[in-house]
Parts: sequence; structure tokens; C-alpha cells
Amino acid sequence: MKVAIVSPEVAPFSKTGGLADVAGSLGRFLGALGAEAMTVSPLYRSAAAMVVERLPLRLRVPLGARTADCAVARSGPHYFIECDEFFGRDGLYGTPDGDYPDNPARFILFSRAALELLIELGAPDVIHSHDWQGGLIPAYLKTVYSTRFPGTAAVFTVHNLAYQGNFPPDVMALTGMDVRHFNWRELEFYGRVSFLKAGLVFADLVTTVSPSYAREIITEELGCGLHGVLRERGRAFSGILNGVDYSEWNPETDPLIAANYSADSLEGLARCKAALQERCGLPVRPRIPLAGVMGRLAEQKGIGLLLQAAEGLVGQGLQVVILGSGERRLQEAVLGLASRYPGRFSASVSFDGRFAHQIEAGCDLLLVPSLYEPCGLSHIQGLRYGTVPVVRATGGLADTVEDGITGFAFREYAAEAFLSAVRRALAAYGEPAGWRRIVRAGMALDFGWEASARRYLEAYEGAVRRVRGADSS
Ligand code: ADP
Repeated sequence: MKVAIVSPEVAPFSKTGGLADVAGSLGRFLGALGAEAMTVSPLYRSAAAMVVERLPLRLRVPLGARTADCAVARSGPHYFIECDEFFGRDGLYGTPDGDYPDNPARFILFSRAALELLIELGAPDVIHSHDWQGGLIPAYLKTVYSTRFPGTAAVFTVHNLAYQGNFPPDVMALTGMDVRHFNWRELEFYGRVSFLKAGLVFADLVTTVSPSYAREIITEELGCGLHGVLRERGRAFSGILNGVDYSEWNPETDPLIAANYSADSLEGLARCKAALQERCGLPVRPRIPLAGVMGRLAEQKGIGLLLQAAEGLVGQGLQVVILGSGERRLQEAVLGLASRYPGRFSASVSFDGRFAHQIEAGCDLLLVPSLYEPCGLSHIQGLRYGTVPVVRATGGLADTVEDGITGFAFREYAAEAFLSAVRRALAAYGEPAGWRRIVRAGMALDFGWEASARRYLEAYEGAVRRVRGADSS
């Protein structure tokens, strides 16, 4: 089984969120199962220094009326499309003030360049593309490029249904696809061209990143207008929980944290907590419960709820460390919390992998009050570090946290419900023996990639059977 994972971000080369982790790890674990996997992603400025090889290959990629020239770089199984005009920037998709206006051109170019590269390298059995940035790939495979990839299956994973890549109709001309595909059963979505919908409609198989989110997004409430499209896919749509790469997220060996520790010997935890309190300018006090909030600063992550609950959290005696980047308005809001509650709230507006590890190790609690959450990786990483999650029971959070056993969960998206779950967590924290039981139960959970990679491989096999006519269901 030869698989090309085509993704707009691949860790450690480029990352804004969980998609990068998935794209960076999945291939390696597929390799352990006997598949051969490679990734293709854009060469952003952040990745340029990490690339080891430039291939003697130039891709001439049609983009509307013009042709763009792309180079190809490589680092082991990771291939990169190099085109300075579109990707030689600091941001992946935009700045805190909004998306790059030429994003449709950028990801049309990326999608076609990836396909041109795969023609050069030899068609794989499966092309697995991701999110709206890769949504056109299944459509290209069934239209413009169908004769070049006759036996290749298109698998498409949606990591967040709310990011749809919907653009004005004149973007159709840039895609090079026949305008007859601009209809409501294919690329058209309320008068716009939807890259995400293209992926959902044309892929042989569609997956999302947790079983609960798969059930949620076929409903009107969470389906972002696309629930009907997903329902129509029937059995060709399913949820596969993301894995975590425990070679990166392991408190026993992690070189980025103040002290290593394991479930059998938790002494290092206290050192990690003290180091984090010190780094964040909070009073270094072992018995004050320390909570972390880490992730994209977007409404989806429940930052609005955090702001409403802030005073209550302080009232419950918590220290709170926030690490995140994203929308400017929310960046300012979390910095405001730190200045309003000095010694209680600390906020860092950045994307900082080392700091992320220190938060996972040093906090007692991780707060994840998401409005919705396709999977959520930071709390799964935190579980392995003995950081007890307090989550809203939605999507992947509902699939991975057991209330009162490995964490604390609440349902209603309301500050009082959130605060009441924190109150229950703090009551448990007050009883050290019981607390250690919860910490250890979380550390013992296994959300490793092995199981998830096996499920992806089964999905690939099913998709290949469909394409090659061995399965008509
Ligand atoms: P998303 O919805 O953004 O994909 P996930 O929880 O699925 O959220 O994945 C987020 C990934 O990014 C995790 O690996 C997490 O550790 C990491 N991360 C989140 N925020 C930051 C940050 N500010 N700095 C560094 N890493 C971060």
C-alpha cells in the first residue's frame, strides 16, 4: 500500500494545530504496519531551514490563465512544494488580523503541484488529503487528473468542519475545472466555491477525527450547513480518533521539562510545577492548584467561556497559565486577564512547542471548555503527563475523558457549568490519595498511534476496493 499524505501542515516542519501532528506522525506508524507513506506540504518559511535536499525537478503548474513554476524539496519521506511567491511567508494561512486574500490561489496551486509531483514519482494507491486546503484534491482526481491516477483512491479527512474555504465563484476559473462542476451537488455552496465541500463530495472515503464528532456533524446543530452532504455519504463517512505520538509526549524521557517522572514515581511533577510557576511569574506554591489553557485563540476553544468564568476561577483559588495564539481580539482579552489578576493569571501569546510541553507537565489541571472539539490533542497529551483535564463533553473530548475517573466533564456551554466542573475537580484535588488515583488513571490511558494507524489502513483498503470496483457498497 503506497500512501501520499497531502497536507497544508506537517510537524515538525510547519504547524498551527493538531492537523500537523497527525500528518507528521501517521506516515511513520503506517510504515510500521507495512505501508509505504510519504507527505507533501508547502515549503513555508518556517520549514526552509529544515529541508535537506532539493530535487532536480521543476513542476509547471497551471493556475488559471498562467503557469507557475514550483521546485521540490525533500527531507526523508517528506516532500515540499517550493514556490516563494505563495509560500515564502511567516504565516501558514494568514496573520492575527485575518486570512491571506490569495489563499484560494495558494491552495489551488499547492493541490495541483502535489498531484504533478505524484505523477512524476508514480501514482500511489491512496492520496489522503486534509481540510479545506486539500479539499480540491479528491475533485481533481475524479476530473482533471482522472486519467493520470486511474487506480488511486481519494481519502479525505476533515479536522474541523467550520473552516470551509468558501470563495467567490470566479475562483472556479483558477481551478481549471469545468464550470459545470459549479453546481449544488458538487463544488457550489450557497453561491460560493467550497473547497471543503469538494473533498466531502468527491472523495472515495471521508473521515473525521473522532467518532463523536462524526455523529455530531451530521446534525443541523453542528453540521455547519454540510450535514446533508455528509449524511449522503452514508457508510463512506466515519470517525477515526487521532493518535498521540508518545515518543514526543512522554514525561519519562521529555528533554523539554524540568524533571522527568513516571506514574510509579511522581516526584518530578512537583519540580515541573514549581518551574512553570516561576517561568510564568506566579507565586511558587506547591499547594495552589495550577490550571493550564493551551490552544488556538479562537471562539471554538471556549475562550469566551473562560473570560466569563475568570473571576469565578480566581475565587476558587486557582492559578491559571494561558498559552495561545490566534485572533487579535482574543489575544488582547487573555492578556487583559493577566493584567487584571496578577499572580493569578499568566498569559503568553505565542506558539511555542517547548512551553507547551512545560504546561502539560507542570499543571495540575488542563481546562478545555470548547464550544465544539473535533478531537483535541492537548488534553490527550496532558493525560500522559498526569495533568487532569476539565473538558466540555463534546466531540473528541467526550470520547477521551471519563468524568470522575480520568478527568472532569460538563455539558452545558455556560460559565456556571464550567465552574461547577472545576469545583468538583478541586474537591478531588483536596484529597491527595484520590487525586493520585485520577492522575495515574489518566497516565495509564493509551491513545497511541498504533490503533489509529491501523484504522486508517483499513479505510485505505476499503477506498482502494471501491475505486478498483471490488466493492460497490
Ligand atoms: P487544534 O484545533 O488547534 O488542531 P488540537 O488540540 O487538536 O487543536 O491540537 C493542537 C496541537 O498544537 C497540539 O499538539 C498542542 O500541543 C499544540 N499547541 C496548541 N497551542 C500551542 C501553542 N500556543 N504553542 C505550542 N503548541 C501548541
